[in-house]
Amino acid sequence: MSGTRFSYVKNYELPDPLLPGAFVVFRLDGHSFHRFSDQHNFSKPNDLRALKLMDRAAEALMEEYPDIVLGFGESDEYSFLLRKSTALYNRRQAKIVSTLTSYFTSCYVFYWAEYFPDNPLKYPPSFDGRLVLYPGEKETRDYFSWRQADTHINNLYNTAFWALVNQGGQTTTEAHATLRGTASKEKHELLFSRFGINYNDVDARFRKGSVIVKIDLSDGTNAPVDVARVEDQATGSENMGERLGERTQTKKQRKRKNATNKTGLEILHCDIISDLFWNDRPNILN
Ligand code: ATP
Ligand code: ATP
Ligand code: MG
Ligand code: MG
Ligand code: MG
Ligand code: MG
Ligand code: MG
Repeated sequence: MSGTRFSYVKNYELPDPLLPGAFVVFRLDGHSFHRFSDQHNFSKPNDLRALKLMDRAAEALMEEYPDIVLGFGESDEYSFLLRKSTALYNRRQAKIVSTLTSYFTSCYVFYWAEYFPDNPLKYPPSFDGRLVLYPGEKETRDYFSWRQADTHINNLYNTAFWALVNQGGQTTTEAHATLRGTASKEKHELLFSRFGINYNDVDARFRKGSVIVKIDLSDGTNAPVDVARVEDQATGSENMGERLGERTQTKKQRKRKNATNKTGLEILHCDIISDLFWNDRPNILN
């Protein structure tokens, strides 16, 4: 490979390291899922199978990449927070974004039939992916608040919209017109007075999205996991041994250690905007 007269072209590949110490958020979003959901007969406003498939792919990603310490999903998108000091792929931006997007997409296809046994895929779905760096805890928390607020706004609108169409007999154009310019309170009232729907009784999964956290399974308490200990289980990193200063540790020793640090994943549909969630899990932002 090296040493031919062609090798100089390698120098055109420029390094793309992520700023050290910054919080790394990875978000992916289904490409043209308006069409994809139509073509695969997703139910409206919320297809439960599709949301569970997204959660399944997200769990698989978090199992494969233990440096991911938090996941948040809604609709056709998922956001992930990487451990602040992650050394995943030496923090190479393109390598991280491409492998994570690719793995998630593969899992979405791999698990498709479990969730849609009667709807074979008509064409290969794809996702776009991006990384965003945040300088501090405030911005990182605000990022996740932003996504959950978006979940709320979209779901309230979609719930009202599809009630008008499916139960109210309006055309989609009429439903859009009915809702144009309405405030949140008016949508609540419309749902209740015209359709007997108390919005707060709508499935929390639809109102709050999906939150995936790590839990400690080793002592049976299922307590929030100590993120620092999870470092030991990192597999996605090219230089795990070096990073942990464990160059001399044998594979066998490492395995035994992992067995006692067993972590699992838990899917919640809870509020992540107020302090409670974060106060209970101080390690997420470590
Ligand atoms: P882009 O490629 O720009 O992301 P898009 O068509 O995917 O375009 P989004 O803003 O990402 O647009 O919206 C995703 C759309 O996919 C939603 O508007 C909705 O129509 C549909 N969708 C995604 N998940 C579900 C679901 N679980 N149930 C019903 N519809 C869904
Ligand atoms: P990285 O994740 O850094 O790319 P890698 O293991 O994929 O690591 P590559 O340099 O991309 O390393 O090399 C790909 C390897 O995959 C080859 O060295 C070869 O062993 C194997 N491989 C790929 N395609 C084939 C093939 N068609 N037949 C046999 N082996 C293959
Ligand atoms: Mg190769
Ligand atoms: Mg979009
Ligand atoms: Mg999309
Ligand atoms: Mg989207
Ligand atoms: Mg390769």
